[in-house]
Amino acid sequence: MLLQCSNRGSNSTLVLHNFKQRCTFTHPKLNTQKKFGQLAYRGTNELGQFNECPANWENVLEGIRKMRCSDAEATGDREDDDILPLKERRFAVLASSLLSSQTKEHVTRGATHRLRQNGLLTANALNKADEETIKKLIYPVGFYIRKASNLKKIAHICLTKYDGDIPNSIEELLSLPGVGPKIAHLVMIIGWNNVQGICVDTHVHRICNRLGWVSRSGTKQRTSLPEETRKALQRWLPREEWVAINPLLVGFGRTICTAMRPRCGECGVSRFCPSAFKETSIPSSNSNKSVLNKKPESS
Ligand code: SF4
Repeated sequence: MLLQCSNRGSNSTLVLHNFKQRCTFTHPKLNTQKKFGQLAYRGTNELGQFNECPANWENVLEGIRKMRCSDAEATGDREDDDILPLKERRFAVLASSLLSSQTKEHVTRGATHRLRQNGLLTANALNKADEETIKKLIYPVGFYIRKASNLKKIAHICLTKYDGDIPNSIEELLSLPGVGPKIAHLVMIIGWNNVQGICVDTHVHRICNRLGWVSRSGTKQRTSLPEETRKALQRWLPREEWVAINPLLVGFGRTICTAMRPRCGECGVSRFCPSAFKETSIPSSNSNKSVLNKKPESS
């Protein structure tokens, strides 16, 4: 599922960190130009802790936005959800988010559409529905058997514990079967219009590592899990970017910075990317993994 939201969070206080080389930067919340070091500056997170930001991250974001601005996919495509009662809309957001995991966008859209057409996108209806019927309707989403079972369990929990609505905290969402941090944050943003964290999926995880934006705590090594990436990214990315970063990088990851053979020759931010032209894939009968010829961590 793609996000379509315009939430704005709190101000980020930016301070000069490196004067060696200077560039001009206009922070969207400050509306004034300030001089910043070209290599890095520091910002504060919501706890007021200072955190180092990667060099040129705003140039990179702007460059990716330019590459994405003409692509309709980046604007999101939820179906008729806005006309539903809020409780049903939130449940639909949760159900379709669950379906979207490990599944292509058009497959998720089809499965969600079939559930909707059969009146099964409410907690009450799904709770009463036969699991075999749910399986057939959501096929061929990834792990459809397990997801059908989880949807029924979630419907029962939402009905008995939340009066047919969905939980409104990350902790409670995470207690639902099949719901991990990515879905929980996505649902908080779209369902509750409440930004608790960045929704990090496989695209955000991969691209942030390629750009050298995140690393394992206390090291320069790439993060290995999306949850690790989320925490690392939240340490420096201004809160007002937390919602927009997901659809931006998802679209970019599907078109240019793909998992296999990224199109660095067509990428408008390659001059800022430590992984540019270094990501290749090894053709193999039993493995087609993306590998890095030279570690970007040295950058
Ligand atoms: S230069 Fe290549 S690896 Fe870097 S962001 Fe662009 S497409 Fe991705």
